[in-house]
Amino acid sequence: MTSAKPQSRPVVFLDRDGTLNVEAGYIHQLERLVLIPGAAEAVSRLNQANVAAVLVTNQSGAARGYYPESHILDLNNRLVELLKKEGAYLDALYYCPHLPDGIVEEFTSTCQCRKPEIGLVERACADDQSLDSNRAYVVGDKSTDVELAHNIGGKGVLVRTGYGDQVLEGTYQWPVKPDYIAEEITEAIDWILTDLKIETKAF
Ligand SMILES: [Mg+2]
Ligand SMILES: [Zn+2]
Repeated sequence: MTSAKPQSRPVVFLDRDGTLNVEAGYIHQLERLVLIPGAAEAVSRLNQANVAAVLVTNQSGAARGYYPESHILDLNNRLVELLKKEGAYLDALYYCPHLPDGIVEEFTSTCQCRKPEIGLVERACADDQSLDSNRAYVVGDKSTDVELAHNIGGKGVLVRTGYGDQVLEGTYQWPVKPDYIAEEITEAIDWILTDLKIETKAF
């Protein structure tokens, strides 16, 4: 076998809480992590279109002392299992456990990976050379997600689930200009797949 350079593919960076699973505050019990209806099917459509689906999530619960870091992994594993039951998978998962004013010292550093900082995306691209950073999208429910998209030179889709509506009303975080506002993850992925087709045609 020759080691051919992996074919480059578009990538969608997906937020977790309020985007793939129902926003439920800091989730202590694993069973409380529940998918938003349509989320698995939306991820599966990315899988079938050969568009990478990469989770990037800020998880400050460990830094706040709410639970150990291993619980973040347990929650992510549950997400993976729920997606798998419906035939969908994530290409990779990354989380930022840091919070400068957290109370658990090992996580209180000022990091380069807490969204909207781009550290998680940089790690993803270093780990998987097939990701095409020129065709990158971020889907999330917070201003931080839209800002991350713009920080990486990609397109940001704000979903109205989770905190999305509050962001739009101006009552949460700060005003941002998403490239698209979607009712939920299904519509977000619809828009991205259409957007990718248009770009492909244009070239
Ligand atoms: Mg979120
Ligand atoms: Zn971090």
